[in-house]
Parts: sequence; structure tokens; C-alpha cells
Amino acid sequence: MQTDRTVLVTGAGGFIGGHLVARLLAEGRRVRAIDVKPLKRWYQHHEAAENVVADLRHRVACEHAIVEVGAVYHLASDMGGMGFIEGNKWACMVNVLIDTHLLDALRNHELEAFFYASTACVYPAGLQDETEALGLREADAYPADPEDGYGWQKLFAERLCLNHRDDFGTPIRVGRYHNVYGPKGTWRGGREKAPAAICRKVAEAVLTGRHEIDIWGDGEQTRSFMFVDDGIEGTRRLTNSNVTTPLNIGSSEMVTINGLVDIVSTIAGVDLERTHDLSAPQGVRGRNSDNTLIKAELGWSPSIPLRAGLERTYEWIFDRVAENRA
Ligand code: NAD
Repeated sequence: MQTDRTVLVTGAGGFIGGHLVARLLAEGRRVRAIDVKPLKRWYQHHEAAENVVADLRHRVACEHAIVEVGAVYHLASDMGGMGFIEGNKWACMVNVLIDTHLLDALRNHELEAFFYASTACVYPAGLQDETEALGLREADAYPADPEDGYGWQKLFAERLCLNHRDDFGTPIRVGRYHNVYGPKGTWRGGREKAPAAICRKVAEAVLTGRHEIDIWGDGEQTRSFMFVDDGIEGTRRLTNSNVTTPLNIGSSEMVTINGLVDIVSTIAGVDLERTHDLSAPQGVRGRNSDNTLIKAELGWSPSIPLRAGLERTYEWIFDRVAENRA
């Protein structure tokens, strides 16, 4: 049941949060958008939303955030790509303060839905040490052996959510995002993920005329990347459903990192000399999303082709790189 009560989006100044606020406003919802970053650093700033700067690690900030709220999309998290999460395990773990305080504040609050942004990093590393990765099924998360730091924090927060559902009847929805990419997200500074980093490096090569690129690892590691529009569609569909167990929200179009460089180079129309940095963080060897359950539950799964999503992402990042050189 959808009411006209305010929808809270945490992490709204971030990549996925910004796109989600745009979507909810377009659907006519009243939105409270919250992020710890100063407004000028939000990737999207929608005038039509109630935009609030607050640090949700603090209980009192969570209490203010939920006033008159009818639904919550909880995306706030201090995180980034592999280069960030492998070197900032403590910062990742401390995100439990946000999850715990927000859910505790919501104990006696009547909600239409509470969406939690979980991750493919909850899956055991041992299932991801081959490049020919079989898709990860939701049930594979246990017995647990997730990514140290970030993965453990997200798995713990999933359990917080599921216990909230069991003890207080909260309509919990947990989406496990797999590698989301697209425009209006992190593209430099150390927190960016592989598609954004590669688009930036290719754009720099084009703009400087130095046709070289460094790739983390041997480039044969495999991943699936989901365009942000599919991520938002999946988030809305899951939140509107009655599914209260975790669901993958990810693409099943698997590609090697070298293949990703091929696609972006083709889009940019350049041929680049490649060097491989074998000492750089690489994460697991192979990861893909098994979409059997999401298809069964929602009759839908992400389908935007990687090439199409990368064309839009490269164009946006190229403009940012060019702007910053000017
Ligand atoms: P992002 O870093 O762009 O957005 C997260 C936002 O949370 C940031 O703007 C950050 O400032 C905010 N935040 C951090 N600490 C906060 C605090 N204490 N109080 C309020 N706001 C705070 O990341 P994103 O890519 O948009 O990811 C959104 C969510 O989806 C995260 O929870 C992330 O773990 C999850 N996720 C993302 C991906 C992906 O590929 N992008 C994959 C799996 C899961």
C-alpha cells in the first residue's frame, strides 16, 4: 500500500541515492534526502526534495530523520570500490552505527517498507575464486565467509533488518546490489569502481594523447556490471513487492576487466597500450549474479546491455575529465 507520507532516502548525496531520489520525485512522492556530505558535494541535488545534511551514525540524527516518514530507502554507507574497501575495513565496519541507530529508532514506527542496500560482497570468497564464475545464489551467503570489513558489516546489517522484520513486523526488503555503474557517481579520488575508473583512464588517454592504460591485476578477473537505471528499477520493484528475504539486484552479463577495457576503448575510438599492475587490489577472481530468484519473485531482472550503459557512462565521465583539465 502506498501512502502520501514522506519517503526517506539515506545516502541521497551519493551515486545510487541521487538517482533514486530523482525516480521517487518523478513518481510524485514527497522525499526527504539525507547525506553527511555538504550539499555542494552531492552528485544530484533535487530542489523538490527536502535536503538534509546529517551524520546518521548518531542516534539523534536518525530520530530526526524518521519524523513523519512512511517508507525508508537506506543507502547511506561509507564505502567505495575495491581500492577503498580493502584498505578501509574499520571505516566499513563502523557503518553498523548507521544501520543500528536507524533501525533502533524505527522500532515502533509504522512503515510501508524499509529497503536496505546490501551487496554481493556478502557472498563467501571461496565461491568466487574462478574466473568462470557460476552466478551467486541468495542462499550461497551461508555458511558465511564474506569480504572482510565491508562484507561482514553488510551481512550483519542484513541480519539486523531480518530480525527487525521478525520481532517488530517491519516490511523489510533487502537488495544485494552487484557492481552498479552509470553517470553521476564517483569517478575519481580512490572510491570509484572499475567501470568509472576505466572510463576515466580512457578519457584521460584520449584527452592527453598518451594512449596507455594501467589495469589492476591481469585483467582476466570477471565481474557483472549493472547500469544504474536497472538498479533503481529493481529497487522500486523489490520495495513494492512482498518479498522479505534478500534478493540479488545485479546483471548476469559477465565480462573480464580486459573485456571492459575493450568496450570502453571501442566507444572512445582509441587503441591503448596496456600495462597490468599485479600488486593492485583485485578483489575476488570471478563474480556474477544468479538471477533465478529475482525472476521468479518479481518477473523481472536487469537487462540493460553493458555496452549501452557504458556509452552513457563514458560520455558523462569524459565531460568531467575534460572540464577538470580546462
Ligand atoms: P555512494 O558512496 O555514492 O553513496 C553513499 C552515500 O552515503 C555517500 O554520499 C555518503 O556521503 C553517504 N554517507 C556515508 N556515511 C554517512 C553518514 N554517516 N550519514 C549520512 N550519510 C552517509 O555509494 P553508492 O554507490 O551510491 O551506494 C549506495 C549503497 O549501495 C551503499 O549502501 C552501498 O554499500 C550499496 N552498494 C553499492 C554498490 C555499487 O556498485 N555502487 C554495490 C553494492 C552495494
